[in-house]
Amino acid sequence: MRPSEGKETFGLYEDRNVQMLLSKFLSGEIQTIEPVYDSEVGYRYPVIESTVGEASQVAAFLNKLEEAGILEKKLYDKIIFCPECGSADVSTRYCCPFCKSFDIQKSSLIEHVKCGYMDLENKFCEGDKYICPKCNEELREIDVDYRKAGIWCTCNNCKKSFDIPVPSHFCRTCGAISSFEEVIIKDVYSYTLKENVTAESSLNWFLVAAIREFLMKEGLKVESPGLLKGKSGAKHSFDIVAYRGGKSQKVIVVDLAMSPGDVVSEQPVIALFAKIFDVSPEKAHLIAIPKLSENGKRMAELYKIRAIEAKNQEEAIVSLKESLKAA
Ligand SMILES: [Zn+2]
Ligand SMILES: [Zn+2]
Ligand SMILES: [Zn+2]
Repeated sequence: MRPSEGKETFGLYEDRNVQMLLSKFLSGEIQTIEPVYDSEVGYRYPVIESTVGEASQVAAFLNKLEEAGILEKKLYDKIIFCPECGSADVSTRYCCPFCKSFDIQKSSLIEHVKCGYMDLENKFCEGDKYICPKCNEELREIDVDYRKAGIWCTCNNCKKSFDIPVPSHFCRTCGAISSFEEVIIKDVYSYTLKENVTAESSLNWFLVAAIREFLMKEGLKVESPGLLKGKSGAKHSFDIVAYRGGKSQKVIVVDLAMSPGDVVSEQPVIALFAKIFDVSPEKAHLIAIPKLSENGKRMAELYKIRAIEAKNQEEAIVSLKESLKAA
């Protein structure tokens, strides 16, 4: 329930683009962010481009979310870039290891099981039949009469034969030919939402981020989660602790409690009371999403906890603002 990650993550949840993307995931509009091939630039992420608006910011945006533990990446492809011009429109050629020509002929080696004769596939071809050139018998069924014994290549340029060609890369944009050693290879990922990022946890993050932003604009110093030492000497943790000047005076504490589609019970009110009894902040707020039970409301009043009911972050902030103004 309580955000436990670094300050960076708060910044992310304050980001409108992150909120938009997360809502697409959480509503089921998207399940996976898959790259789409584009011969000019390699791969692009149209969903993210339309979210952040600027294609040049897509990679940084995705990295940020992945590092913050919001998205999970999975290797989707490796893309080859021309080392001369940077184009991704690069083809792979299989070349003769002797003269490096890509004009090679690839064929299968066929073995006639019965007589043991082995030769290139075209030596067996007679019309639409396979006939063994040694014993003149017809080969009818693969893996019974005959088997494929591998691949054999012949170079049309130097006429030499070999079994393993060497790859080279041809840039369709600038015409440069590059070896495996020379080309630039980059990983391309698809992204999914991390399993532990749920509608509830995101709402909590959005809310904490929005409240932090609001309190900081009001000129307060904010810690979230914030630790305060009580009279007893024990330390107590609050979702948000805000103060002006020294930590010893005018401290405001805020806890959040959520129960989507239901009412929040009195339990978080009791928990908050136990902490403020020891800490004695100037004001203590409990933000209940979307509603607080009647019992909870009664206890909050008794304990001088300002209970705020809100359906969303906008409502929560409006009420918090009013509560801060009130004496
Ligand atoms: Zn090129
Ligand atoms: Zn034969
Ligand atoms: Zn050759």
